[in-house]
Amino acid sequence: MNQTYSAGSCHVHDRMRLRKPHLKDNLPTQLCLLCNRAFCIDHEGKEDGVCEINHETYYRNHPDKQEYLFRTYGEWEKECEKMKADDMSGIQ
Ligand SMILES: [Zn+2]
Ligand SMILES: [Zn+2]
Repeated sequence: MNQTYSAGSCHVHDRMRLRKPHLKDNLPTQLCLLCNRAFCIDHEGKEDGVCEINHETYYRNHPDKQEYLFRTYGEWEKECEKMKADDMSGIQ
């Protein structure tokens, strides 16, 4: 389970680099559980494995990607539980 390095370039920094190309990601980057994009230490959110953006807004603005997005950490946790339960029923 090592997705810490080379998850890609930080999506928050990517946006900032449009105006300030000299900025660099504060490595390592990791994939955000909620929006599935890479972010660096500078842009870590309150929860583990989640970036600092407002995911409710991101979800609203990207109707085409909603299948892969989570609005809140709680929603992700619920989905995780469900997947675990599905796995169990698959084994039996
Ligand atoms: Zn960053
Ligand atoms: Zn995110």
